[in-house]
Amino acid sequence: MADKKDYYQLLGVNKSASADEIKKAYRKLAMKYHPDRNPGNAEAETKFKELSEAYEVLSDEKKRRQYDQYGHEGLKSSFGPGGFDFQRDFTHASDLQDILGSIFGGGGLGDIFGGGGGRRRSSTGPQRGADLRFDLEIEFEEAAFGSRREITLPLTEECGKCKGSGVAPGRSRETCRHCGGRGAVVSGGGFFQVRQACPVCGGAGSIVTSPCSSCGGSGRVKARKRITLKIPKGVETGSRLRLTGKGEGGTRGGPAGDLYVVLHVAPHDVFERHDDDLLCKASIPVHVAALGGDIEVPTIDGFAKLRIAPGTETGKVFRLRGKGMENVEGYKRGDLHVQVVVEPPARLNSKQKKIMKEFADAT
Ligand SMILES: [Zn+2]
Ligand SMILES: [Zn+2]
Repeated sequence: MADKKDYYQLLGVNKSASADEIKKAYRKLAMKYHPDRNPGNAEAETKFKELSEAYEVLSDEKKRRQYDQYGHEGLKSSFGPGGFDFQRDFTHASDLQDILGSIFGGGGLGDIFGGGGGRRRSSTGPQRGADLRFDLEIEFEEAAFGSRREITLPLTEECGKCKGSGVAPGRSRETCRHCGGRGAVVSGGGFFQVRQACPVCGGAGSIVTSPCSSCGGSGRVKARKRITLKIPKGVETGSRLRLTGKGEGGTRGGPAGDLYVVLHVAPHDVFERHDDDLLCKASIPVHVAALGGDIEVPTIDGFAKLRIAPGTETGKVFRLRGKGMENVEGYKRGDLHVQVVVEPPARLNSKQKKIMKEFADAT
């Protein structure tokens, strides 16, 4: 740690540099020292790694603050006892790829630091597109009756101009000089020789030198896709709709990923949902509670008649079978539970008062 260089000095920016200035400075230097531009030059490779480390720290607000306050020591905790660990800490790999992708294209620059687990992908064969998650808020009625919704998804697709190759029309990929087209490099010595995917071409053995103007060499373009969703009856918050093949487009002829729409159902003013059953409250006048009678209660399908038995008390629950939510799997529809509240009249006229007195005297 003692001979670590100052990150700002490495990138040639001052301490108050903006995120954009840091990115620009890094881009310039990274291109200069990129291993592909300096084949077999160990010094350039070291420099490149130093620059990347500096960028990784200074491009991350939290890490930059730690570094500003405590210097390299301040980053020890976040980097662990072994110091900066490229495999673990290089969270901006995709950002890096974004920055350098247009120049070195195609290859997985994420692999330059030793190919973190799971991130390594073949850069030659067809590759399935990523699955996408889309959160959608729907009305209570849509959950009850089902609906159709049109959504617009931002996603990336294979570039139509270069068919995802990233190469300008009429040009082709060139053999990677770093690995001589083998796609792999051997590092270390003695017992510890390790064969790794070539950091420059990401294992492809070739690189893009004349990038496609439409996608800048990445082979992918941003797109917006409109999708019509069919929301089935009975869905609830957390229900997931899976749309096969509606995720991100694949690469080099690979299939598209899937789209998962996660539903969030807005609460209803009147009804409370418990599984497929619904619960609501209804007030009944004193005389109905005492003598019994029919009242109208709200249901999700409109009003329904409910027979109140004589002597009904507040809190009693009546069940209307089949007036709840549809079951999303097509089983029996839920019930509606109506809890009654006996409401005394707010104000009595003289005739009603007289009758109530008579009622009281009679008991
Ligand atoms: Zn290579
Ligand atoms: Zn393209």
